[in-house]
Amino acid sequence: MKVFYLAAEAEPYVKVGGLGDVAGSLPHALQEITSGTEFEIRVAIPFHGAIQQNPPLLKFLTSLQIPHYPQPLQAQVYELEQACVKTYFVSGNLFTLDAPVYSTDTSFDGLKFTFFSLACLEFLQAIDWRPDVVHANDWHTAPALYAMLIQRDDFFRQTARVITIHNLPYLGHGAAEALMEFGLPPAVNSPLPVWAQQLPLPLGIYAADRIIAVSPTYAQEIQTTDFGAGLEEYLSSRREDIIGILNGLDLKVWDPSADKNIAYTYDLQKLHRKEYNKTHLYKELGWKSGLDSPLIGMVTRLDYQKGVDIALTTLRNVTELPWKAVILGTGNPALEQAVYQLQLEMPDRLRAVLRFDPVLSHRVYAAADILLIPSRYEPCGLAQMIAMRYGTIPIGRATGGLRDTILDNGNPYTSTGFLFGRPQSEELDATLRRAIQLFSNRRAWRAMQRNGMTQDFSWARSAREYLNVYQQVVKAKEIDSVSVEAKV
Ligand code: ADP
Repeated sequence: MKVFYLAAEAEPYVKVGGLGDVAGSLPHALQEITSGTEFEIRVAIPFHGAIQQNPPLLKFLTSLQIPHYPQPLQAQVYELEQACVKTYFVSGNLFTLDAPVYSTDTSFDGLKFTFFSLACLEFLQAIDWRPDVVHANDWHTAPALYAMLIQRDDFFRQTARVITIHNLPYLGHGAAEALMEFGLPPAVNSPLPVWAQQLPLPLGIYAADRIIAVSPTYAQEIQTTDFGAGLEEYLSSRREDIIGILNGLDLKVWDPSADKNIAYTYDLQKLHRKEYNKTHLYKELGWKSGLDSPLIGMVTRLDYQKGVDIALTTLRNVTELPWKAVILGTGNPALEQAVYQLQLEMPDRLRAVLRFDPVLSHRVYAAADILLIPSRYEPCGLAQMIAMRYGTIPIGRATGGLRDTILDNGNPYTSTGFLFGRPQSEELDATLRRAIQLFSNRRAWRAMQRNGMTQDFSWARSAREYLNVYQQVVKAKEIDSVSVEAKV
């Protein structure tokens, strides 16, 4: 089986968010679990400016002309030298040295990602590598699936189409004109709502044989008004084609027993060493006392999606109990200001570190007792899984991947964390109080930590589910083509 995997970003070449984690790990995990078989997955990402600045060892493969109005655009394709997963980098005038991976100019992003999507299809034909599955991710690469659906030539006739939705509300607004310029007309005869017939993600979903959401709960939620971004009715009509598969965690990167970024490594047997990390971080943050209080951590994009405002209200409300908190995050300027303001109000309790700092993030996960993730919606979420690996108890809102990965049955000896229902500070207040009370019951707390640390968040498990999907869609395509031939 041959799978072609397209994404806007992939580790270790370029990473902006969770998509980069997934596109960096999943193809490798798939290649690993299928070693010794005929399975092959190849990956393509744009040759972003950030990669050009510090490029890996690449081999030039070919130059292509991509049909575009008013004039065709040139693409160059490079291949990574020495890799266990063949990776292609697609370059062109739209990917300049100083351009960010995602810009605020939605029509420009529409143009460059549609160009990338179509260049990938042209390129496969140029090297005559005919995949059994093309797997797109989010709106950026969704145009590839739509182009395959409406194209007239035969090259992809037998190829199945799969899309993963990492974050539904990002539909690709602003790309309508670009789609037209690249010869992709609105899907006027489709069952998509009219407003969605010229947007990349809805078109990709429409064209996909299988739709994957990044957690089982999110797969259900996107079929409801609260989470469906206006597509809930259409998605619900496709419920048979939708499946939820949790993202895995890169266990080599997130391993408290071998983590070079933390001061004291630890594991289940040496869990007391986790506390040394707390002492270490307290020093780093300039705190001299309060080691007995639970340390609450947040490592997050500062975005309303993440319920940062809810967390701040709760920290203001729950002052009768002892706690300290560290918030590591960047993003929305108003939320950055709000976090900073709270630090001014309670300097003895709260430290705000308003930057993106992967090294410090490891130290926060290692030092914290509790991690707050009060998201309004959370397609999958990695932070709660990382927290559990590090013996840090997550408090999450019961939504999406948080609901699927945090187990809260009211009994600390068999739970892995705390969940609350509605995205309101009163509910988080009560849950935080519950957690802080449990913190003083050392035996119960340890049990919960252990439960979290022994969960299996490996990619291998998720990769097997992806492999299943590939096998199913390929089989369905074969049956389809046999029945078409029979009719002919
Ligand atoms: P999302 O992809 O929606 O931002 P996830 O929980 O899936 O949320 O993944 C976020 C990832 O980014 C986690 O690995 C988290 O540790 C990391 N992260 C978020 N904010 C920061 C920050 N300020 N510094 C370092 N790492 C961060």
